Amino acid sequence: MIPEVAYIGLGSNLEDPVYQVKSAIDEISQIKDITLQHQSSLYQTKPLGPKQPDFVNAVISILTSLRPMELLDTLLNIEASRGRKREIKWGPRILDCDILLYGNQSIQIPALTVPHPEMTKRSFVLIPFFEIAPNFIFNDGKSLQTLVEQFNPDEYMKL
Ligand code: ATP
Ligand code: CA
Ligand code: CA
Repeated sequence: MIPEVAYIGLGSNLEDPVYQVKSAIDEISQIKDITLQHQSSLYQTKPLGPKQPDFVNAVISILTSLRPMELLDTLLNIEASRGRKREIKWGPRILDCDILLYGNQSIQIPALTVPHPEMTKRSFVLIPFFEIAPNFIFNDGKSLQTLVEQFNPDEYMKL
């Protein structure tokens, strides 16, 4: 299989979020069949959902020969190995790894929606994504830069 470029969004707001995100990036980059291409800075961001601590977020791009579901399983296993539990929707979490994009593919199966359906609304995704893909254009023709310009800089802080 020809490797594809995928973008992954990472987030944590429990148990030393900076450590969680940095070490998750290390863990992902050491996986056979994954080559880390770019990694954004870490950002401190405001949470969605219930009241909870601020998040630390980052976005990485990888080159991978894993198929989309294999990549998802790999990421969910890393989350589980950190003790991630799914209790409250959008609640606090030790580690969240979302597949934002997988090549140019559009995937709609119960376990996996790609592009990630919420990504274009979320500053905590788009700001770090913009850092590593400043010229990115979405399939509908919108530029990432245009979306990023709409956000209030108070919502995020580079660490
Ligand atoms: P959100 O998807 O709105 O960011 P979340 O990350 O809190 O919410 P989770 O509880 O982490 O949601 O994930 C629930 C399920 O979402 C996962 O088990 C996975 O099967 C599914 N899922 C669907 N699309 C994706 C995707 N693009 N990346 C990661 N998981 C996905
Ligand atoms: Ca998420
Ligand atoms: Ca998730």
